[in-house]
Amino acid sequence: MKPFDRPWTLPAALALLLVAGGLLGQATGGRPSLGVAIVAVLEVVALLTRSRHLSLAMMPTPPANPLQHDRFMTRSLRLASSLHDLRTAAGSLPDAVVLLDNEQRVRWFNHAAESLLGLRRPHDRGAVLSDKLQGSTLAEWLDGETHEPLNDLAAPGKPDSHLNVTLLPFGRAQRLLLARDISHLTRLEQIRRDFVANVSHELRTPLTVIHGYLELLDPEDVPELAPVLGEMRAQSKRMGQIVEDLLTLSRLETQDHISDERVPMAALLATLRREAEALSQGRHRIVLESTAEADLLGSPKDLHSALSNLVSNAVRYTPSGGAITIRWRREAGGAVYEVADTGYGIPSSHLVRLTERFYRVSSSRSRESGGTGLGLSIVKHVLNLHQARLTIESAPGVGSTFACHFGRDRLLDPATGGGEEI
Ligand code: ADP
Repeated sequence: MKPFDRPWTLPAALALLLVAGGLLGQATGGRPSLGVAIVAVLEVVALLTRSRHLSLAMMPTPPANPLQHDRFMTRSLRLASSLHDLRTAAGSLPDAVVLLDNEQRVRWFNHAAESLLGLRRPHDRGAVLSDKLQGSTLAEWLDGETHEPLNDLAAPGKPDSHLNVTLLPFGRAQRLLLARDISHLTRLEQIRRDFVANVSHELRTPLTVIHGYLELLDPEDVPELAPVLGEMRAQSKRMGQIVEDLLTLSRLETQDHISDERVPMAALLATLRREAEALSQGRHRIVLESTAEADLLGSPKDLHSALSNLVSNAVRYTPSGGAITIRWRREAGGAVYEVADTGYGIPSSHLVRLTERFYRVSSSRSRESGGTGLGLSIVKHVLNLHQARLTIESAPGVGSTFACHFGRDRLLDPATGGGEEI
């Protein structure tokens, strides 16, 4: 049994026990409560750890009255046993848990931290965690300014495992590092990706054959089947487009970087405008405002595909007579490519889900206009690969603005001498 170093430690530990006990009960349900419960449990563990070398003389004096003395001893034993259980429970959590002091020194860690992070007992106690993990992405992250959760990180102590790492502040500038082993999720995600890529690939050839034969059939030879033939051609073309978009998405998902080539923006913007005019067929007013005077650094093909997707959406979701403005302008920290339309607009409740695969505000409108429901997913992936982000502003009946924000690192002074149109 470990003694307590200060008279207030006993009630504090008891209070924490209650909090921890209650929260641990919920822990299996929700992750945030697990984090709080772990903090509570570890506070207790830390109290015990700190008091390791202190003597029994420092315990609150037991009451002299024999009855009160017995009650006091029973309570103390029960508390010690509960603390022991909590310590064992925290120690055997499947996620790595490391308790850090205000100087990022390791105060305590559990068994999973040994296998996943490579920490060793007893000599890593008291070590600065980022020094211990030197050279790893985790160490860089710990030394960094911001501590947004890190996802899909190779475990320093077990390179085949993937981690999700969070740093939770608590107490007086202390931190709790939680590293969840997400290897099984990563594997499932990989299986899903492979499945989609394989199915799309397998469908490609039969669809090309069907499409080819449909093209060979002349509706004039069988006038009674002309409407059916027309519909079959349109549908096989749509399926072909879905397969191509799925293959593009699979490729983008498996890539973690893109080619760094100059993308001449004057030429690209001229191409995008021409594409908008061709798609609109004179039904909209197309305006180009280019003031950024900068080229982009990235993949010309993927950027063209993403930026033209936004133009094509603006044309498809804006009724005749509307206006579409394509803008390329500077903003604080970089430059932004915007496509603003005066179209149908999108209710705000849909905005957060718009970049999900196959998510549509109106399925019928999307299908009628030849959409696959994958365009904005592709845009998001391409932008991620360029460390850029997409913002969407929209109001039903007023219109929408889709904006791609590129950081300064992605901008180049425009090449002299114009350049070829992309
Ligand atoms: P789709 O092929 O269906 O257009 P996207 O991924 O490109 O797929 O877009 C997803 C959905 O977002 C569309 O179905 C549409 O409902 C909505 N959307 C996209 N762009 C616009 C826009 N400019 N105006 C209104 N709605 C839009």
